[in-house]
Amino acid sequence: AYVNGRYQDMRDASVNIEDRGYQFADGIYEVCEVRGGKLVDMPRHLARLQRSLGELRIAEPMPLSALSVVMHEVVRRNRVQFGIVYLQISRGVARRDHGFPAGSVKPSVVVTARTINPAKGAENAARGIKVITVPENRWPRVDIKSTALLPNVLAKQAAREAGAYEAWYVDSDGFVTEGSSSNAWIVTKEGRVVTRPDKSGILSGITRSVLKDALEALQIRFEERAFTPEEAAGAAEAFVTAASMIVMPVVAIDGHTIGSGKPGPVALRLREQFHRFAAFS
Ligand code: PLP
Repeated sequence: AYVNGRYQDMRDASVNIEDRGYQFADGIYEVCEVRGGKLVDMPRHLARLQRSLGELRIAEPMPLSALSVVMHEVVRRNRVQFGIVYLQISRGVARRDHGFPAGSVKPSVVVTARTINPAKGAENAARGIKVITVPENRWPRVDIKSTALLPNVLAKQAAREAGAYEAWYVDSDGFVTEGSSSNAWIVTKEGRVVTRPDKSGILSGITRSVLKDALEALQIRFEERAFTPEEAAGAAEAFVTAASMIVMPVVAIDGHTIGSGKPGPVALRLREQFHRFAAFS
């Protein structure tokens, strides 16, 4: 792990107990896919990271190019070929007080990487995952990739306890916003791919943005609009996207089978084609 300027064994790596990330979840993070030892879509992840920091007025701890070097180095030291790299930046260490610390406190930087067996993702994709719906209970600034994830933790746990893999939030108007750690998509019976616009209610996913480019290039009809769980249940297909899952087919929502109950052809094609449109570094 990289912690504030030092590469350390994961078992010894730690942060100060007065770190604001620990005490207030006063920080942001990114998760980037590692494939063939390369980082996937780093420039877009770093741009979103910069935006998240700006929205929370956390100083950039180092130039983005240096952060990128650290992420590559952590991947290399862990010999990760397939997996993820995790980056977290908190506002730093200060005596506990809700308001921002006075003076210039150095933000804390933690980077870790781990291997994920690609066979596991392939297995899930071949079977398709189940989702449940839960009421949207997160703060309105879900566009910021904040480490404050308690509602997401509880939603994911509710999904697990219901025998599902992901939970989709439903807003007070009855529309799906996104998953607890993924963006939500459906494919209509007319073959249109639909996902909620990133104006409100969702994190602007990097996988989502790359997939939009892929849809355009593949000339697949695409619509950005909100949809309800009922529409999803009656759709031809559904899937979720995230850096850690790429395109993952969804075969049931709240116990209702979607389409044939098997991963749909559009989702599988997009999963297969995705990395043609991704940037490797
Ligand atoms: N929405 C939420 C709430 C997430 O936590 C994530 C990723 O973890 C996503 C969407 C997907 O974003 P990305 O494709 O950048 O991984």
